[in-house]
Amino acid sequence: MNTTTRANNPTSSAAGSAPITVLLVEDEEAFVDALTVGLGREGFIVEVARDGAEALERFALVKPDLVLLDVMLPNISGLDVCREIRRSSDTPIIMVTAKGAEIDTVVGLEVGADDYVTKPYRLRELVARMRAVLRRHGAATGSDAAGVEGDSREVLALDGVELDTDSHEVRVRGEVVNLPLKEFELLSLLMENAGRVLPRSTLIDRVWGSDYVGDTKTLDVHVKRVRSKIEDDPARPTRIVTIRGLGYKYANNR
Ligand code: CA
Repeated sequence: MNTTTRANNPTSSAAGSAPITVLLVEDEEAFVDALTVGLGREGFIVEVARDGAEALERFALVKPDLVLLDVMLPNISGLDVCREIRRSSDTPIIMVTAKGAEIDTVVGLEVGADDYVTKPYRLRELVARMRAVLRRHGAATGSDAAGVEGDSREVLALDGVELDTDSHEVRVRGEVVNLPLKEFELLSLLMENAGRVLPRSTLIDRVWGSDYVGDTKTLDVHVKRVRSKIEDDPARPTRIVTIRGLGYKYANNR
């Protein structure tokens, strides 16, 4: 059974724009009930899926603006759901993990999630993270999902890689490659600053936000994933190069 809650008077930060639809993937009734009410009150439209298969079905049908994805689900795990969604979509995904779960949060980010929260969490914290992810997504795609201006169309083209900040597309030698939001932001930042070394702390601040408190391995995991998609030989990268002890640089090989 699916539940839809529509708030009469959305209070989302996106004044004048359509309410934001959240796909809540959760099998614990207590969380479903609390979040349906709590997020509804915050102005979100909440769609619920109670297992992985239903999540993929609902995702295709509802086309949510954001997915709140519990990792521990019956049948298909949250990680597999995330992977599957990432095959075709860069919709923001926040993973929800149980406290002390054996699943490393890095794994969640590795499969393409944008952020994660650990149970138990406060509704206020969750909503703040949801808005932050939506804002960054809106800024990256130029959509106004979170009321962010994004009119500056720019195509960066370097060494066979083209990145279009407007259509949010990346092409490598003319072939479109699918980069989830964080990977896109990371590549975009490196390409904008081609030839300059970007320190690790700058990359983490700019891509994950200065309030990011996760594992610093996250950056390397994302660099690795971007390399696997844009480098001719990911084991010997010539575009995104590591500057040991400092950070990364997009080489200006022209
Ligand atoms: Ca669960």
